[in-house]
Amino acid sequence: MSGFYRLSGGRILDPSCGRDEVGDLFVADGRFVDPASLPAETSWEWIDASGRIVAPGLIDAHVHLREPGEPQKETIASGTHAAAAGGFTAVVAMPNTRPPADQPNTIGWIRERAREHGIVRVYPTGCLSEGRKGEKLAPLASLRAAGVVALTDDGSCIQDAGLMRRVMEYAAMLDLPILEHCEASSVSAGGVAHEGYWSTVLGLRGWPSLAEEIIVSRDILLAELTGARLHCQHLSSAGSVRLVREAKRRGVRVTAEVTPHHLALTDEALADYDTSFKMNPPLGSEADREALREGIVDGTIDFIASDHAPHCSFEKEVEFDRAPFGVVGLETMLAVAAETLVKTKLLDWPGLVARLSTIPARILGVPGGSLAAGAPADLAVIDPNLQWTVNPEAFLSRSRNTPFAGWEVQGRVMLTMVGGKIVWRL
Ligand SMILES: [Zn+2]
Repeated sequence: MSGFYRLSGGRILDPSCGRDEVGDLFVADGRFVDPASLPAETSWEWIDASGRIVAPGLIDAHVHLREPGEPQKETIASGTHAAAAGGFTAVVAMPNTRPPADQPNTIGWIRERAREHGIVRVYPTGCLSEGRKGEKLAPLASLRAAGVVALTDDGSCIQDAGLMRRVMEYAAMLDLPILEHCEASSVSAGGVAHEGYWSTVLGLRGWPSLAEEIIVSRDILLAELTGARLHCQHLSSAGSVRLVREAKRRGVRVTAEVTPHHLALTDEALADYDTSFKMNPPLGSEADREALREGIVDGTIDFIASDHAPHCSFEKEVEFDRAPFGVVGLETMLAVAAETLVKTKLLDWPGLVARLSTIPARILGVPGGSLAAGAPADLAVIDPNLQWTVNPEAFLSRSRNTPFAGWEVQGRVMLTMVGGKIVWRL
């Protein structure tokens, strides 16, 4: 049961209405409340939030929970525990599971499982194409009826522009956003590292930025034609940022996300062939990183998403070429984002919270991102000053594949509440 809480003396940040003040926030029966609306004798359980930030629960629009099919990497239970520890009250689950979430019954299974074992909200997505093969449309209307919040073939990308046009026409009709993994596979062609200085020096097969930029430009044209809502996932190149910026100026319905690792790191990190730095799209150059930071600051890139992609250690402990792509991110995202954007004074805390909560909620059309009275009490209490060392062994995720092991970071989630229930406390 959720009770009556008074979070006292915290810095209350609500980007949905521009609120930024020190004060008390009240939760009753699972919702934010105005205490004046309750009897004076209401007894509150006090939570001291002084010196801390009280923010709407963070929302991660790009998470791989690996269920159904690969519980050795992650489960809905372990993944949502990791999410809660990272301050997330909701995650959007990618459909590249086994089987892929391309049928309504799979979506039903995920929702049922999330209700039973999830401790934060789980919003499923459905595939664009059957089996994510990029050949035939998935049953998009039935997927919508089954409760998906968006459509995506994440991990792959429909290469056939004609099929993509049809997908966009349907998505526009169904009013569902398309979350696009932008990769022209004939251009990336088995590449494992950003094509540039380091891929040459290290003798790794290059993944050119062009592979991403070709699809970003194609999809912008298709979104303009069809009116579909296009969301470009995990942007990694300066050229992509420029394309999205120009399209937004023209009024195209395009949004974009960036991951903490693309904001924090460059391909120089590959110097030791450590597979903890292997992800898709790959880490870019210094110029790419600069452009991504500029893009998230000026709003060209709308929000930050983790692309939390758990893999077992034995899978990652192989030669660089053979290791799977992807890194975990739920438990380090807030601190890494604060290190790269707040400590550098590129953003302030309200700006960061907006990009981790309010903006993704709005773009995905899911509840949350606000502390308004009456809304479900989804919140995160953050200590912006707490210093800690990233220790993968302490992760609640089943996987340890982080590029940030050993990092000294500042900023930590002290408490997470979902619907008025405390699901994490440090
Ligand atoms: Zn992807």
